[in-house]
Amino acid sequence: MSYLSTFDPEISEALKAELTRQREGLEMIPSENFVSAAVLEALGSIATNKYAEGVPGKRYYGGCQEIDKIEDLAIARAKQLFGAEHVNVQPLSGAPANLAAYSALLSPGDTILGMDLSHGGHLTHGHPVTFMSHIWQFIRYKTTPDGLIDYDQMAALANEHKPKLILVGYSAYSREIDYARVKEIAQSVGAYTMADIAHIAGLIAAGEMNNPVSHFDLVTTTTHKTLRGPRGGMILCKKEHKKAVDKAVFPGLQGGPHENVIAAKAVAFMEALQPDFKNYARQIKANAKMLEEELRKRDFRLMFGGTDNHLLLIDITAKGTTGAQAEKALDLAGITVNKNAIPDDPRPPLDPSGIRLGTPALTTRGMKEEEMRQIADWIDRAITHNSDEKMLVSIKEEVRSLTQQFPLYTELSS
Ligand SMILES: *Cc1c(COP(=O)(O)O)cnc(C)c1O
Repeated sequence: MSYLSTFDPEISEALKAELTRQREGLEMIPSENFVSAAVLEALGSIATNKYAEGVPGKRYYGGCQEIDKIEDLAIARAKQLFGAEHVNVQPLSGAPANLAAYSALLSPGDTILGMDLSHGGHLTHGHPVTFMSHIWQFIRYKTTPDGLIDYDQMAALANEHKPKLILVGYSAYSREIDYARVKEIAQSVGAYTMADIAHIAGLIAAGEMNNPVSHFDLVTTTTHKTLRGPRGGMILCKKEHKKAVDKAVFPGLQGGPHENVIAAKAVAFMEALQPDFKNYARQIKANAKMLEEELRKRDFRLMFGGTDNHLLLIDITAKGTTGAQAEKALDLAGITVNKNAIPDDPRPPLDPSGIRLGTPALTTRGMKEEEMRQIADWIDRAITHNSDEKMLVSIKEEVRSLTQQFPLYTELSS
């Protein structure tokens, strides 16, 4: 970062401090991860300079020979990784990928059946604060008291409302998804199927969770969560939807694709194709399971009956505190999580009843079951003593000494 520190010390200093923060804390926000140095290099490359509206081989600009190679590689690797017939790697992030996916197959006013947001759905699945909720009509299914997706309710609602699209894939739901059952329900009412695998894409790519790609019409994802690539999105689909999807992304919603990000996606997909990525995904799940067991022992109230993936949703009010208070206490202890609504949460969104935490970033650092046990203990102590600043500071010191045993970005100067 020598050019930056000379020309723009303010940005340079902030980036250095952010690097220290990432190194010295326990990153437990389940949607976050640490990309490799190779991904960073592609991301910061001169590919950012190029306009390449269109798709490889069919661009609106000259000089795209090398860019076409890059984007073709990204597409081929993504197809291989997920067993997809077609992939569009241009969506700028998860939210624009979802918008493009809806607009590829639906007309304004059509009905979408998706998961209730407090039960684990994402804002882009029809929250009233989004513009999408004004374009399409969203109907919602929930989870059962046991914490599993209520497929019977999904079927009943599908029958009643005849949606054009049934949507699965979540941000806070911690269990497996029965895609075959969803497809059957969709077929019975003539609806399209869409899975938003933003959170679990890396686990699916590694064969550690069910893969919806061969059953479903559309699959959207981010590339920066468990897939451990640059911040971005993509859409995977059957050949029959290729034209509609590509048109929806460009010119429907976007302009020039971010080819530096696409280069970084290609690198991340290559990493995910390596045998070692399977070990990574397996360890993410093993770590989440260990955390579940250790937190259960300490009387934490886990939602959805536990976890089959990389994350846990916890009703923290059962510990006499709130989501916002818990997030703050853990932050002071060097553990980053996020406050989160629990199913049918009676509390407001800015101070909900829950916290959500996950293991992808810690696992990238090399942490295993033993560290999870220790972390569960710190979480319990921080929550139990959430107003004892001395205690929180002393946990933070312990956290810092653990993180030093798991160095991050040794190739970058501090
Ligand atoms: C994170 C997420 C998104 C949005 O991704 P952004 O890149 O933040 O726009 C969409 N859907 C689900 C299920 C997500 O978890």
